[in-house]
Amino acid sequence: MGTQKAIVKENPEAGLVIKDVPIPDKVGPKEVLLKVKAASICGTDLHIYDWNDWSKVNIKPPRVIGHEFAAEVVEIGKDVTSLKVGDYVSAETHIACGTCYMCKTGNKHICQNMKIIGVHTDGAFTNYLVIPEENAWKNPTDLPIEIASIQEPLGNAVYTVLSGDIAAKDVLITGAGPIGLMAIAVARACGAGKIIVTEVSELRKNLAKEMGASFVLDPTKENVLEFVKDLTDGLGVDVGLEMSGKESALETLLSSMKKRGRVSLLGVFDSDPVIKLNNDVIFKGLDIHGITGRLMFQTWYQIKSLLENKRIDLSKLVTHKFPLSKFEEGIKLLKKGEAVKVVLYPE
Ligand code: NAD
Ligand code: ZN
Repeated sequence: MGTQKAIVKENPEAGLVIKDVPIPDKVGPKEVLLKVKAASICGTDLHIYDWNDWSKVNIKPPRVIGHEFAAEVVEIGKDVTSLKVGDYVSAETHIACGTCYMCKTGNKHICQNMKIIGVHTDGAFTNYLVIPEENAWKNPTDLPIEIASIQEPLGNAVYTVLSGDIAAKDVLITGAGPIGLMAIAVARACGAGKIIVTEVSELRKNLAKEMGASFVLDPTKENVLEFVKDLTDGLGVDVGLEMSGKESALETLLSSMKKRGRVSLLGVFDSDPVIKLNNDVIFKGLDIHGITGRLMFQTWYQIKSLLENKRIDLSKLVTHKFPLSKFEEGIKLLKKGEAVKVVLYPE
């Protein structure tokens, strides 16, 4: 059994280390062994780095992290039928049990026994990893590895934007992090009307414009509600997509909604926000729903269509590329909001 360099949560405390770990040598009958070509850093990886409350509950060190990636199939289990050695894949990171109530009712993305690659199983910030056959998503051979590696967060954006009508609808997106920026591109590609975006970081505000936002506002400097009212004859927006995980952004979003509007909540809040339930939700007749992960696998087919038909161009969102050993640099840039997607390459 050989070894490989990996980014590991070694102890139950803040930080990550790069160290030698064994190359996985057991591939189950319905699993595949993958060789990583590129892997990108997700906000979740920053939380794991910081060892926040969620990480404490979900991660049992030592654990190889990383879950957004592009890879090549190098070995298949004996019962694998849908993949062959040499296939170019990315992965759905939610591992569903297949037998629980949610799985059996078409809701694998919220499986009762869900495991996440790079959280509950060893991940992709290394050379080789093993995943279930079902989780591997075959990429077109001409898809650049950087773009292939960011399809998982793209799936969050696609699922959120397309979880209701979007064509000819005015949209407010709060938060233009990687997923908010992808959501702008998807909403534009799918025929949204006016796309209003709120964001505080300069880099991300500029990218929001490039992704197709009609208006980009800084909520700390501008009155978003007034702006939305002026733009929509006092009615508000049809669709609100919360992608910041900030309470003040949620408040702005709910107050900016048109009556009977659709609100999709993706952002995760540090602590449960307080909302004006009577005036902003009930009397407005809003439709609010939560978004977890990506629909398995409807969302992936939508991603495939958007990319294959060149409806979206995400190349500008890959702001930095580093060898795996320089991951700390990527984490620093992301924490300062000076990067969007940082792609790492195993050595
Ligand atoms: P991110 O944290 O990089 O993006 C959030 C953006 O919001 C940042 O660019 C930040 O500058 C901006 N922001 C901060 N305060 C703001 C404010 N008051 N108004 C508007 N914008 C503000 O994260 P991301 O990777 O793009 O993910 C977006 C959110 O979705 C995060 O909260 C993340 O935890 C969550 N998420 C949820 C799921 C899910 O399955 N529900 C999956 C992935 C990520
Ligand atoms: Zn299940």
